[in-house]
Amino acid sequence: MTSGRENLLPILDAPGSPGTRPLFGLNNQELSVILQHFEAPAYRVRQLSQALYHNWTDSLDAVTTLPKNLRDQLIAAGYHIGLPSIVETYTSVDGTERYLISTNDGQTVETVWMPEGDDGEWGDGSDAGYHDSTICVSSQIGCAVNCQFCLTAKLGIIRNLTAGEIAGQVVAVLKRHNVRIGRDRINLVFMGMGEPFLNYDAFMDAVRLLVHEIGIAESRMTVSTSGIMPGILRFASEPVRPKLAISLNAPNDTVRTAIMPINRKWDIQHLVAAVRQVPLRPKEKLTFEYVLLGGVNDQLAHADEVGRLLRRVGRPLKVNLIVWNPGPLMSWEMPPPHQVMEFQARLKHNGIPAFVRRPRGRDIYAACGQLKQTGQVRTNPLLPAFPFLPEAP
Ligand code: SF4
Repeated sequence: MTSGRENLLPILDAPGSPGTRPLFGLNNQELSVILQHFEAPAYRVRQLSQALYHNWTDSLDAVTTLPKNLRDQLIAAGYHIGLPSIVETYTSVDGTERYLISTNDGQTVETVWMPEGDDGEWGDGSDAGYHDSTICVSSQIGCAVNCQFCLTAKLGIIRNLTAGEIAGQVVAVLKRHNVRIGRDRINLVFMGMGEPFLNYDAFMDAVRLLVHEIGIAESRMTVSTSGIMPGILRFASEPVRPKLAISLNAPNDTVRTAIMPINRKWDIQHLVAAVRQVPLRPKEKLTFEYVLLGGVNDQLAHADEVGRLLRRVGRPLKVNLIVWNPGPLMSWEMPPPHQVMEFQARLKHNGIPAFVRRPRGRDIYAACGQLKQTGQVRTNPLLPAFPFLPEAP
């Protein structure tokens, strides 16, 4: 599968069809190649980059810092801004918003805005403040990993998103909420539809754009992987990268393979070995996510096994417990609240910092593992209006 970047650079001598070559998503070097073709001076790259990544301009006609003849030439060659736009919004009782965001080929991808963050982790000492907003970003349309508890998996993989489509989701949501970079604090979690490390190049291109051009600190970003070992090893050597979360979800290979078939390819031992290669920055912790499925992986003996397993990692880490979110045609059970709290307490007893993630937007299919282009479904009939919330300890 390609990263979708191949058609972005100029096929410069042939006129392009109108609106087929999005500029949003290209880095300065790529913009420079395009503008050089039109014999524009080097400083025009800065002006175009400013329009794309600082002013979030929607149309080339509105980039008035560029001369009109240059804009006309770009448009005639098929270039356009190509910033993804929100076409549908679903609002949860808890203020979370789920969006369908359109891509340049007429598909839609899902993105979620959580106005007070996604943390809700009682006592979590991370630097992501409770009152900061968080955007949950997708990296693919659909997903090939096929985790058995995830609605997105039901789609299969449709295609990779481009870097512009990944970073563009963030900008579309920032624009909607009038967020100003530098004034407002924002967290990004790459935990939407798809496995980011199966679209590695586009994902990391998007991260670099978000950090270097748009101005969001990498320390405010977290990427979650199901355990794609080659991706983790590449990620370990990135000079600029988000924090890493591993979607573990099981105490041993037997349970993990049953709920995450990817474990047949890279089992827990390989996963731990790969994660140990990732150099951590001061105060950085690895996150292990653990979706609790009633009767499957939520027993106290499982918590003991997870404790033993994670002590082998030998790095600063924490566990985020996520109560499974129901969806149509899914036969798993939500564990009862007391089981969740006992599981958390047992992990802590084993020396593992553990937090219960407060579910966000579960009633509108915006919570973890629920994104599936449920455009026609406005509310989740499987849940009461107010989402599950275990009692705080
Ligand atoms: S949980 Fe993530 S990796 Fe697994 S199928 Fe769903 S989107 Fe893909």
